Amino acid sequence: MKKILILGSTGSIGINTLNVIRNLPGQFEITALTVNTRIDLLEPQINEFRPKAVVVKDKKLGQQLKKKIQDKCEILTGEEGLIEAAASLDYDIFVGAMVGFSGLAPTLEAVKRGKIIALANKETLVVAGEMVTGMCKDFNAMLVPIDSEHSAIFQCLEGEKRDSVEKLILTASGGPFLHKSKDELKAVTIREALNHPNWKMGYKITIDSASMMNKGLEIIEARWLFGLKKEQIDVVIHPQSIIHSMVQFCDGSIKAQMGLPDMKLPIQYALTYPERLPNNYERTNLSKIGKLTFSAPDMEKFECLRLAYEALEAGGTAPCILNAANEVAVDKFLKGKIIFSRIPHLINRALEKIENHRSPSLNTIYECDKNTREFVLALS
Ligand code: MG
Repeated sequence: MKKILILGSTGSIGINTLNVIRNLPGQFEITALTVNTRIDLLEPQINEFRPKAVVVKDKKLGQQLKKKIQDKCEILTGEEGLIEAAASLDYDIFVGAMVGFSGLAPTLEAVKRGKIIALANKETLVVAGEMVTGMCKDFNAMLVPIDSEHSAIFQCLEGEKRDSVEKLILTASGGPFLHKSKDELKAVTIREALNHPNWKMGYKITIDSASMMNKGLEIIEARWLFGLKKEQIDVVIHPQSIIHSMVQFCDGSIKAQMGLPDMKLPIQYALTYPERLPNNYERTNLSKIGKLTFSAPDMEKFECLRLAYEALEAGGTAPCILNAANEVAVDKFLKGKIIFSRIPHLINRALEKIENHRSPSLNTIYECDKNTREFVLALS
């Protein structure tokens, strides 16, 4: 049985990972689960999956949980608990399912131990892609993407030589605002932005999908995962979300990976790789779907996508600035403090104002992240 540590077990990816594990009995054993605050959701997970240890990042809530569950499992708390779990527990696969940039330090501990890193958390590669992929080589750790687009590309590349790749084509649904004009985007409500047509996901990523920053972050993620240049990563709008992404090879041939938009599929592939195991999830009925359509993304309207390409081109800490500014801006939007079209505006201000550092160390990345957050928090 493969042993699993899930960083972020109560978020959308964490819950889906446990669904996959539940549906493949006898294949996996849970070593550890971690949460920030949701001990109400963690408790039934402990009772069902019997992990050796859990980590609650919020220390007070961790103590509360300790009283409740007694000695069912070991309970660690705080950021240091996350790092200790990743650095010392016995597991084979580290599932990075947390939201945002907060999971970087524990992920690096798993990398140093040469583990399989099943990564849903794109921010890790956006802010520290150069460092993380370099360390994976040094420590013989393997990155297996969970993000559906990158899982699709990973699957298309199986059995292919890396130097035969001409370009990647990331598909994007276009989100809820695909048919709105740039002007209409200004007035969209939080509820409209949270109403994604195809995917059920957490709040942060759903807003990122509406602004197309999600695709922007995925371009940077793909650059590091697959070691390609910016010019080799294209985006095409594909509103049906059936083709999850494609690879175009040097002979002009294109391979695509298809399936229903369900995160359980890329999660299962990452956990069972290089095997494929049978499941009874709903199948894709192409005759019922009827047609698949494609169009070019509107970079004028979706400024976040353009900003992401620019940050990738600038390199250094520019993607870290992009990411931190976006996290703060999205949070402001979700709290009703700014309108939707301010999101790219604030990110642009941060990219213009905050100094870019080449080949940053981990400390430089943390500092850049912190400075950017403070800068954007003070803007309105
Ligand atoms: Mg994705």
